[in-house]
Amino acid sequence: MSIVRIALDVPLSTLFDYTVAEGVVVAIGQRVIVPFGRRQMVGVVMECVATTDVSPERIKPVLQVLLDSAPLSAGLLDLLRFCSDYYRYPIGQTVLPALPARLRSDKPIISKPILSYRLSASGAALDLDSFPKRKVVQRRILAKLAEQPCNLAQLKALSTTAGAQLKTLEQQGWVESFSPAPSLSLDRTTSHSTRPSKNDGQVAGYPAKGGGEQIAQHTFDNAHILTSEQQLAVDSITQASGYACFLLHGITGSGKTEVYVHLMHHVLQRGGQVLLLVPEINLTPQLENYFRSRFPDVNLISLHSGLSEGERLHNWQQAQLGAAQIVLGTRLSVFAELPKLALIIVDEEHDSSFKQQDGLRYSARDVAIFRANQRGVPIVLGSATPSLESYHNAQSGRYQMLKLTGRALAAARLPAVRCININQTVMHHGISENLLREIGQRIVRREQSLIFINRRGYAPVLMCTGCGWLSGCKHCAGKMVLHLKDQRLRCHHCGYQVRVPHACPSCGNADLHPVGSGTQRVESVLQERFPDARILRVDRDSTRNKRAWQAMREQIHANEVDILVGTQMLAKGHDFPALTLVGVLNPDSALYSSDFRAAEKLFAQLVQVAGRAGRADKPGEVLIQTAFPEHPLFRALQTHDFEGWAASQLAERQMAGFPPFVYQAMLRAEGKQENEVYRYLNEARTAAVTLSRSLEIPGQVEIFGVVPAAMPRRANHIRAQLLIQSTTRKGLQQFLRAWQPLLDALTAQKLRCSLDIDPLEF
Ligand code: ADP
Ligand code: ZN
Ligand code: ZN
Repeated sequence: MSIVRIALDVPLSTLFDYTVAEGVVVAIGQRVIVPFGRRQMVGVVMECVATTDVSPERIKPVLQVLLDSAPLSAGLLDLLRFCSDYYRYPIGQTVLPALPARLRSDKPIISKPILSYRLSASGAALDLDSFPKRKVVQRRILAKLAEQPCNLAQLKALSTTAGAQLKTLEQQGWVESFSPAPSLSLDRTTSHSTRPSKNDGQVAGYPAKGGGEQIAQHTFDNAHILTSEQQLAVDSITQASGYACFLLHGITGSGKTEVYVHLMHHVLQRGGQVLLLVPEINLTPQLENYFRSRFPDVNLISLHSGLSEGERLHNWQQAQLGAAQIVLGTRLSVFAELPKLALIIVDEEHDSSFKQQDGLRYSARDVAIFRANQRGVPIVLGSATPSLESYHNAQSGRYQMLKLTGRALAAARLPAVRCININQTVMHHGISENLLREIGQRIVRREQSLIFINRRGYAPVLMCTGCGWLSGCKHCAGKMVLHLKDQRLRCHHCGYQVRVPHACPSCGNADLHPVGSGTQRVESVLQERFPDARILRVDRDSTRNKRAWQAMREQIHANEVDILVGTQMLAKGHDFPALTLVGVLNPDSALYSSDFRAAEKLFAQLVQVAGRAGRADKPGEVLIQTAFPEHPLFRALQTHDFEGWAASQLAERQMAGFPPFVYQAMLRAEGKQENEVYRYLNEARTAAVTLSRSLEIPGQVEIFGVVPAAMPRRANHIRAQLLIQSTTRKGLQQFLRAWQPLLDALTAQKLRCSLDIDPLEF
């Protein structure tokens, strides 16, 4: 009898031991169904061991081995183990959520493609001549599969009992099923992809760099001759042997995407797989179409949360088989099986959407770097505004810096950036006269304007002019946002909403005033000023419907829109050729925020949104409304000086002792009882302080005080946090590893607690 150690999706940092009946073959990485308490659960076999601490009367058997999908590779399991350890999160809750939902359910997966069968490695090693002669049907099946993989219908042609015999062969481990790639006959580049993928995550046939590379064929639309900077970037990356991390720092419109295309071409020619990570699900359909147009007969799939469970499973399995040559996905796709992975690209690497904010709080960018290292392949981080972490690493030589300093299209200039001092100009409900005039000129010239304001709704708060009452949320520390269209006050933190009151709830005064502006108010101010203009508002409210955003993009491209009003949804990656003016309202709150990353984020956002202007042959202009026109951030924007800005930010961070010069972990707790929240965090802190005195670790560990969260009350929960930081990553990791059992020993009933490693939000 053998024992397997199983990862289960339960909040305990341990594997669970089960027995396997005699004769049943279980591979590491295989999914199994096991009894757990009164339930049955799907788990993943992480280890096969000889002994267990569980007593013989208590240990239970594996109920079923799921053979409907190939086992997870050892490489992927290693990656997940690393994440569980690094992010201090239970192994089972790391492994299972990384899989498509269908693979986590104990119902058999019904995937559209018909399963095929092939010999496993041990099946291929069988000597048919010495195989028992009386097992006629099994012999026939083995012989047939030795020629080529077949589906069940084809095998049933051999014998009516083929189905049952096939099962037996599968249970013996000689035959395995897989879902074939539908387009295999078309793409010659993956002709060897039907071979069983080896369990170490590498396909044996994948040619090593240098020696005798086989050139595979695919159609490549080589649309552009690369600029010399682009060519240098492509050459540097394709010449890398093994792991290397490149920071591709290219201004907006410099042709980073074109660099990716050429890198993909290089990898595809050699039969490898490319993983391209993008921050936003909204961007994937566009990019998908774009890359399809460049590689018309290549098998490209996307992986993101917008897919149906069936599509997700199908695409995931395509990646797992090595049939998907380009995998385009949001953060979760960093955990896709990629047996022939040869290159990872992280586009917009600075984007905070790569960080997961619940469950396993991983940074997909950082995990991607680890994975590239583990697999010995190059990784490219692309951005116009790299994160200070990555930029610092490139400067210190840990990453290789590659720069694209000019726009790819010679005619496309970077936009001119100007500030409008809101204290020295006439304002109309938050929009300056200068900006309105500029918009008017664009309408006359049939060009588009974009007004960027990072607030949806009509006004962020409603105020009573009599007593100063503000529309606070009764469940949160925040304010309720006025949504005039549906006459509601809505809390954007907890979702609570009420009808707009007719009179002040505090003093009865009927004179209530909206304070500040959101997208709806900007829209109505503009509509009043330009009654004939076609105005389109793009925010989460107007794009709630799944297809709305797609339809809106088409409208914009067809030049059926004069003025776009939108939030950061509009800032990212979109290419609107007729857009020549960008107006930025209200950026100032980020300049003096308590969040030390606020300025970095604002700079990146403004560069992005500014980059939307003047992409084609028409020059663009950006107007920023601010009370601080002399602020260094705006100066740097005006001179397009990322380097100078980053250098000053890094100097400040170093002085203040902030990342990337220190490494941080944040313990958060929230609960209904304030004293419980603070008791827990204070006990955690006491344990940490005691521990830090006894522990020998590299660097220093600094333990801060317990403080309220930035939003100290949300949905009736009191929220507080405790920051730990260290001068070395290793030191912090060692400390956290020792601290964890002490945390687990504290009572935290009725509290929601989480440990966030490399937190982005404060
Ligand atoms: P980025 O991703 O850096 O913002 P893109 O890759 O979208 O920039 O390129 C901007 C524009 O320049 C696109 O329209 C693209 O087709 C074009 N382009 C890119 N590289 C070249 C090139 N070498 N020659 C001509 N046009 C190019
Ligand atoms: Zn009042
Ligand atoms: Zn609320």
